[in-house]
Order: sequence, then structure tokens, then C-alpha cells
Amino acid sequence: MQDLFLGDWGNIAIAIDLSSVTATPVTNFSISGNVMYPDATFDYCDVTFAYTHPGRDDRTQVRYWLPTPNTFSNRYLSTGGGGFAINSGTRSLPGGVQYGAVSGATDGGFGNFSIQLDAVWLLDNGTENWEALYMFGFHAIHELTILGQDFTKQFYNMSDDKLYSYYQGCSEGGRDGWSQLQRFTTLDGAVTGAPAFRFAHQQVQHLWSNVVQHTLGYYPPTCALSKILNETIAFCDPLDGKVDGVVSRTDLCKLQFDYNSTIGLPYSCPAVRPTVFGTWADAAQNGTVTALDAEVARLSTDGIHDSQGRRAYFSYTPSSVFYDAVTSYDNITDTANLVINAMGGEYVTKFLQLLNESNLPDLEGVTYDTLVEWIDQGWHMYEDSLQTTWPDLSKFQATGGKILHYHGESDFSIPTASSVRYYESVRNIMYPGTTFNDTEDTIGDWYRLYLVPGAAHCAANLNEPNAPFPQTNLAVLVDWVENGVKPSTLNATVLLGENAGQNQQICAWPLRPLWSNNGTEMECVYDQESIDTWIYDLDAFKMPVY
Ligand code: CA
Repeated sequence: MQDLFLGDWGNIAIAIDLSSVTATPVTNFSISGNVMYPDATFDYCDVTFAYTHPGRDDRTQVRYWLPTPNTFSNRYLSTGGGGFAINSGTRSLPGGVQYGAVSGATDGGFGNFSIQLDAVWLLDNGTENWEALYMFGFHAIHELTILGQDFTKQFYNMSDDKLYSYYQGCSEGGRDGWSQLQRFTTLDGAVTGAPAFRFAHQQVQHLWSNVVQHTLGYYPPTCALSKILNETIAFCDPLDGKVDGVVSRTDLCKLQFDYNSTIGLPYSCPAVRPTVFGTWADAAQNGTVTALDAEVARLSTDGIHDSQGRRAYFSYTPSSVFYDAVTSYDNITDTANLVINAMGGEYVTKFLQLLNESNLPDLEGVTYDTLVEWIDQGWHMYEDSLQTTWPDLSKFQATGGKILHYHGESDFSIPTASSVRYYESVRNIMYPGTTFNDTEDTIGDWYRLYLVPGAAHCAANLNEPNAPFPQTNLAVLVDWVENGVKPSTLNATVLLGENAGQNQQICAWPLRPLWSNNGTEMECVYDQESIDTWIYDLDAFKMPVY
């Protein structure tokens, strides 16, 4: 069955393979323990089918979970993936169905729902599969959405009733959401978490800690980094006015914590690596923090500079796990060794060098300047597909659409400052001449950014278990879009530790949380010196970096 669907950029020809349709009713389905939505039990129908773009010998599968007709609430939700995956299996779908939304995922045309872009991007060494790349970039989610909207309206006989369309995703899923908001007007609202946008910068920055180590010729034992992390959290926890093991003000932490204060402190780790660093077993490590350990930690947190000291990118906040700096440990020689970050390494080999290799073999010849060149190359190659930082959202705004953007303030995989930079780019492009203080009355009326204290990468944080996570984001967005209830602070829940279940509120950027009366009262305060720590001059590039 061939149909023309009207997309934002003209017609999209889609031929559905009717023989591919599957439909499976599922009753009394229960889901619990997901940070992106509350626990729930519901019935749904699992529908999958495949389509092709006529004239192109391709096949894309989509999956929709349909709520029962009596729980359907005139809503549709598209979802995305993580890393190089364009979907999250079926993990994101309950987040919509429990709110009466038909919820969709796509396989991007990569073969099946488990195959990721990196497996199909190179047809051979040096031969790119640009169709797959652009499907991953933005086409597949757009098609998932317009197909899902059409399917939903027909299935529930909606005739002229309004169908509210949403998106929810985190990490690459956050970038997937932005790929839609920046180009299309198909959505009424989106929840975008810790987006992996500014792709060229984001993927190369994963290698920064490794290149710091390689340049210094020193590989810190992971246990030493773990000690530095614990000391950072202990020092910075009270700066926010509340002693709860959570660094809610990483900006004050950055202004006040000195990595050199950890030099000489003893550390000891058992022969099992803390799970936040990965799951493989390691040798027991004992020692004291050295000046080089502290220097690796300081530089890793500072971010990419070129050999002339010009800044090319920023890095993680202090209190974030030194995930990219992880080393392996050889207990025969008692030495730590280089582990090249898999995400950054694969990006360079497959997407820049166009070699079908899953990581760099070593860092021979790789300097600080090499990283800047790699960013520049990827920026040019993928500016219109993966970079995803177009800062003019006027078309989306004109539809009345709403955006709820959040980012863990202890994110170890995508720097929290990355979201701040994009938010400020949008504000400065769309509201030139305004100041931080104008946020609430300008951009904040339809696009809000929340930095989530203590949260890790799209997850709660074992190192800061008392931190809240905004688990009800889609409900908040729905209330904003459908009932005009604009969130002020963002609703959140403590998901780990002894306070699990406790409600907390998260301040909207650029306001920052500050507790008084022994940590019992929170205020969202304006603090210029803290705000300034989030703003970076990327003077290694002549082009503006949105
Ligand atoms: Ca605290």
C-alpha cells in the first residue's frame, strides 16, 4: 500500500508492507523501576509493521503500543534511543501508554530493532551509507511520528478531534527529540533529557581524558580517581546549604574545590570495580593520591584545549564520575593502563576515518590539536544531520509547542554545560539583547531547562543516592500543553537510598537552588558568579558554536 504523507518538508512517499503487520494484545502488563516514568500496570496492543520508500530498496520497521480504547486519551508519543541506537527496545513505550498515548519506536531501517547505526553506517571501508545516517539523523523519527499520528487517528476513529503529539527521550534520545523540534512542527511538546547533540564536539570530548593521560604519560588507578570523586562530593555537598550527600551546586563546587587538596590521601579498593565505572572485575588497589592523579582529574574536568591553550570544549562538572578516564589495572606489574573510551574511539574510526573498526587501537600521534581537528572534521561532515544545534526554534514556538529539557548535574557522559550552552544559544538568537534575568518572561514561557542536582547520565546516581530525579516529566508536559499549567520548579522524586519516594522540586535555569535553616528550606536564587561558570568561550573555533 503506497501513500503520500505530508511532512513538514513536502510529501514523504511511504509504501506499507501489509503482509508485515503483526498485532499482539497484552493484558495486565506491569513495569517498575524505570527512572523516566512511574511504575504502572496496563493493557495494550503491540502492533508492528514495515514500510519502504518507493524507489529505494529499503525496509523500516515501526512498533506502536496502543492503549485500550477506554484508556486512550487522544495522545501520541514518539520515542528514541541511546548511543548509536535509534530506539530503546520497548523500554520507553510504557512511559506513554500509561498516560493514554499510543507510543512508537522505529528501527531506523537498520535491519531490525536491535541493530544500531554503527553496524550499518559503513557499506565497506570508505563507503558511507548516507541513507542510514540521515534516517538516524532525523528522518526516521519524523516518519515514525507522522505514521503514528495517522494510524492513531484512524484506529481510534478520531475524525476531527485534536490528537496531542509528544516526544520523550534522553541522551541520543534527547538528540532525537531536538532533531524534530529544530526542523518540524509535528509535535505539541517534547521532553528532552541530556541530549547528545553538538555531536562532533560531544563524541570527541569522550576522548579528552584519555588524551590527557597519554600526553602526561600517566594513567591513574581508577581507585585514585574514585577517592578524588568522593573527596569532591564530601567538600562540595554542604556548599548548597544542605548536607545530604548531594552536590546540588556544582558551580560553587567548581569555584571552591581544589583537586590538589586530595594529594597524599590514602585510598583502597577491593578487587571489584565500583559498578558506576563498569562491571568488570579488577585487581585490588591501594595507595595514596599523587600530584599526577590530581592533575588528570583537574584537566579531565576542564575540557578540551588546543596546544595554544584555546578552549575547544568543556567537560563534566566536579562530582561527576571520571568515567571517560577509567583505566585497567595490571596486578602483576602494579600499573594502571590506558582504556580508550569506546564511544569516542568508535566515532573516530567509523565516522571520521571511515574504517569498520570499533575502536582506536592506541593514541599514537594523537595530541590536543588532533582532538580539535577531529571536532572540526565531524562538524563539517555531519553539520546538517547529527550536529543538531540549530538555535532558531521560531517555527516550533509559533505552533504553541512546549519543551521540557533536563540534564543531570553530575552527568559523566554528556557535559551538563552542553545543555546550558544550547539553551543560551536559543535565547540569544531568538531574544537578542535580553539578559539571563529576562529568561522567565521570554524563552522560559515555552522552553524550560532544569539542571537536576546529583543526577547521573539519564539516571539516578549511586554516588549521590539522596538526589531527586524528575520521573513525572511527561505528565508535567501534558499538563502544560493541554491545560496551560506552566511548571515553575520541576517535580521530582528521590529514587534511591533511605529517602526513596521523597518529593523534591528542581529550579529552572538560570536560577540555582540554595537551602537555608539547616537544609530545610530551598530557594531558587539568582547568582551571577555561579551562572558565569556555566558559560564558555570556545575560542579554538572561529565559527559560532551553538
Ligand atoms: Ca548538598
